[in-house]
Amino acid sequence: MNQQVPSPDPATPYRVLARKYRPLTFSGLIGQDIMVRTLTNAIETDRLAHAYLLTGVRGVGKTTTARIIARALNCIGADGNGGPTPDPCGACEHCVAITEDRHMDVLEMDAASRTGIDDIRDLIAGTSYRPVSARYKVYIVDEVHMLSGAAFNALLKTLEEPPEHVKFIFATTEARKIPVTVLSRCQRFDLRRVGEETLASYLADIAAKEEADIGQRALALIARAADGSVRDALSLLDQALAHGAAGETEGRYDEDQVRAMLGLADRTRIFDLFEAVMKGEVKQALEILEEQHDAGADATIVLSDLLEVTHWLTRVKIAPEVADDISVPEAERVRGKKLAESLAMPVLARAWQMLLKGLAEAQQAPNPLQAAEMVLVRTAYAAELPAPAEIIKSLQRTGEAPMQTPAPKPDAPGLAPPPSSTAGDGVKAAGEDAGLAPPSEPVATGPSPVEPKPVGPKPVGNAPSALGSPGVSLALSPEPPPVPEAPVPETAEPEPAADAPPRPDAPRPGSFAEVVELFAAKREAVLQGHLLSEVHLVRFEPGRIEFRPGAHAPRDLANRMGELLSRWTGERWVVSVSAETGAPSLAEQAESLMRKRRKEAARHPLVRAALETFPGAKITEVRDIAPADGDGDADSGTPEGEDG
Ligand SMILES: [Zn+2]
Repeated sequence: MNQQVPSPDPATPYRVLARKYRPLTFSGLIGQDIMVRTLTNAIETDRLAHAYLLTGVRGVGKTTTARIIARALNCIGADGNGGPTPDPCGACEHCVAITEDRHMDVLEMDAASRTGIDDIRDLIAGTSYRPVSARYKVYIVDEVHMLSGAAFNALLKTLEEPPEHVKFIFATTEARKIPVTVLSRCQRFDLRRVGEETLASYLADIAAKEEADIGQRALALIARAADGSVRDALSLLDQALAHGAAGETEGRYDEDQVRAMLGLADRTRIFDLFEAVMKGEVKQALEILEEQHDAGADATIVLSDLLEVTHWLTRVKIAPEVADDISVPEAERVRGKKLAESLAMPVLARAWQMLLKGLAEAQQAPNPLQAAEMVLVRTAYAAELPAPAEIIKSLQRTGEAPMQTPAPKPDAPGLAPPPSSTAGDGVKAAGEDAGLAPPSEPVATGPSPVEPKPVGPKPVGNAPSALGSPGVSLALSPEPPPVPEAPVPETAEPEPAADAPPRPDAPRPGSFAEVVELFAAKREAVLQGHLLSEVHLVRFEPGRIEFRPGAHAPRDLANRMGELLSRWTGERWVVSVSAETGAPSLAEQAESLMRKRRKEAARHPLVRAALETFPGAKITEVRDIAPADGDGDADSGTPEGEDG
């Protein structure tokens, strides 16, 4: 049993906002009205539970709430005669000691690092002693779901017959991992993600107190990026203030600065990019992407922005009044309405699907920019395809079973002709080993995809296997050809990656880069950002990291890294701060590497792009067919239907 692990504190006089403005009373908590009302009522009517369970995503205020409860239960008021109160005075010895994390009777334990039966035995042994000075002994157990089965069992006995003077407050991000027997003995509060508007106005209050001149839209961006977490929001505001103080426009933090800091792309350009993609203007799309990337926008964030635009346009399509929302800038509203009108619903749905899939790929890819480029190429090509309904219609009209794939625009302007073999570009084409030769002439000049007339010049009844043409032929799998299913894009969010159970398939990062990837996979975007730019690695071995923090590193970075790594891997990770210089940050390393790679990235294998355009298409065979065998289609690489 120990007090909360102290933060590594290399004597930074600056107090981070999250710490400075940590609420000390229930009224200071934001966005948790229901819980606050219930708790206030319980304290006023002296109906206190023995154990509370606080659940919710990280950073919504679980441990803050736990400490407020501890103060509320133990406060004796400024005159020393008060009883439990929903408004702890903040002045009595107990309030002060609890606030300073040094109260003998308020014990915090992080179950992530102390999961075993022995740790819990120590804790339980302590419950039989009366509190030293306070009214109640309060045990705060953070990440309680990490306890082992045996530890939970031991705890259960105490929870069944808790001593009068003991209160438990459990906090967890994953209530579903807690045994029902334990759950049933706790009063549970689900802390909610704090809404963007609430968060933004909270940030505005803080900014005012800090006398920082920061615009509404900049705060709204931070609130959006924080995704419901007050702690993340304050941490981002911290960063914004730090950047602004060092920037040219001292004292004034505008939307663009915050956008750049968050790695967000320029909004207008996102619309330009979306339009270019939907028009099949591949060259222009890639140029905009590169420009945004050069300006500091993360390629995967550009893709998420495109997804967001797609989703929003889809909603506008369904209900045009959505575009009248005044929180959306005027220019976007006008443009959005126009775009929504001009794009067919199936086209939007398909774009959504491809971008969503592409985003996941880009997040995994060793070079996200390259992956994002491929996603844009693919989506742009698909945007040129007819809508699924049109294909089915034309199929029915012709009565022809295997249909030809409408060819993509033969020459995407500006795309260099594909080098003959460039494996490992982050592009997955099934059957890569087939050794597809690049078409030396224009890929295909098939019938215009949008024309409803019969597609494919083949005579009716031609067996699929007899189809063939000189040059390259791609075989499509037999499913209705190039059309991805297009579900209504109702589910807006990519599924958050669930925290993996600690064993047995727990991640085992073997390098610092893999650690960063793990943070990305767990959607710890803010921390991932710090890992990339604020960590100068001094020493790494699995289970042990030493680093020198950069100037903008949050001071609990080492703690949080250790805590999360221990939780995710199920093994103990010790992360410590070093005074040694260490290596350049990954961001610094990547930047110099990127400059080199970007030049290479301009040359993409077009054939792979074309393949990626047709989900379900596989290179199953590449063959030369004697011209005698052929029919009219001599100059095109004709995708053909084929079984199996
Ligand atoms: Zn007090």
